[in-house]
Amino acid sequence: MNVPFFLPDIGEDEIVEVVASLRSGWLTSGPRVCTFEEQFAASVNGKHAVAVNSCTAALHLAVESLGLAAGQAVLVPTMTFAATAEIVRYQGGIPILVDCDPTTLNMDLADAARKLEQARAGRLPANIEGRPPVTGIIPVHVGGHMMDIAAVQSFASAYGLWIAEDAAHAFPAGWRSKETDRWQRCGEGTASVTCFSFYANKTITTGEGGMAVTDDSALAHRMKLMSLHGLSHDAWGRYSGQGTWDYKIIAPGFKYNLTDLAASIGIHQLARAKNLRLKREAIAKRYLELLADVDTLELPPVDKNRMNSWHLFVIRLRTEQLFESRTEIMNLLSKRGVNCSVHWRPLHLHPYYRDTFGWRSEAFPAATREWERLISLPIFPGMTSNEVEYVATTVKNVCTASRSQPNEQSEHEPAARTSTLV
Ligand SMILES: *Cc1c(COP(=O)(O)O)cnc(C)c1O
Repeated sequence: MNVPFFLPDIGEDEIVEVVASLRSGWLTSGPRVCTFEEQFAASVNGKHAVAVNSCTAALHLAVESLGLAAGQAVLVPTMTFAATAEIVRYQGGIPILVDCDPTTLNMDLADAARKLEQARAGRLPANIEGRPPVTGIIPVHVGGHMMDIAAVQSFASAYGLWIAEDAAHAFPAGWRSKETDRWQRCGEGTASVTCFSFYANKTITTGEGGMAVTDDSALAHRMKLMSLHGLSHDAWGRYSGQGTWDYKIIAPGFKYNLTDLAASIGIHQLARAKNLRLKREAIAKRYLELLADVDTLELPPVDKNRMNSWHLFVIRLRTEQLFESRTEIMNLLSKRGVNCSVHWRPLHLHPYYRDTFGWRSEAFPAATREWERLISLPIFPGMTSNEVEYVATTVKNVCTASRSQPNEQSEHEPAARTSTLV
């Protein structure tokens, strides 16, 4: 059996809508983008949604509209994808990397406070002169398990920070406040701007695409403007009947608009999003059952105050009990047709961030330790129950064998490991 890490779930409705869009003669941002924006905003109980061609673009527009200026610093988790920090660089800002909570892998707010104080004291980042003012925070909900929103909000208000949420994994996801017992969806006022991804392997897809959601009409207006060259009217507005040929450039914007072709896919993915999440949740529950008694690994946290999107299912190896390393275990799984991934090598361990800012591993003990034992297992709505069982059994067999001696197909060199065991 060969189980891919991920397969998108594209239905006949998506295909028919793309074809209809092609036949309509209107390919770029137009009526389908407007529909997608309205329906998406409604689905997360947000007021305004701006559709763009990636979550990276949405995040860039978010921090631009929030006023991020060159020389200002932003708190960013080290345990994230490139985009979360690089959009701070687009604005000439300085990402202040923050360690992760060892349980959820989300940003550790206690470390965020430490890093912020050190930045304000002029001690961080090591390679940056002066005292960059810290103006914002970008939480990431790793795998779709949301951070404690009340804690993020009180942290931000205590330090006078704006919040732009990287919700690339968190659609649909929810959080329940322990104080008020109220459920809130990710994007329902959980940040000044919440950014979602429709990349090919995200929870819903448009091939490439993203959405910025906000309750603030001024931010929405600024993001819309900047998403299309800073033009006073977009093409659909100009040519659809009501508009005129004329437009004014009122700011030096970007080229981030989503196409109607992509929105055609998005509208139908959105309609099925709840169902797709339930399928991923069922797979996650099955993994949790099937892997519960494998004592060489740890399973992802389950919290009754979260509705997890289950974008990822991340296991952690108890590497100290295993003959093989994480990479060797992944090779063994791949030889048996189980294709896995790792989310992520933390940003402070990438040459650009390490060398430009002078980040050192000692400043991120949890992320430095945890990332070495992470494996993301296949999880996607179309997985059959046979596939789920095959993955779980294979993981179990490989890990169990590795506990007492190297696996048969392993390229493991016993001599090296023996010396480290004594
Ligand atoms: C995928 C991802 C992004 C970027 O999304 P794109 O739509 O590809 O730009 C940003 N942040 C995180 C955490 C992601 O996983």
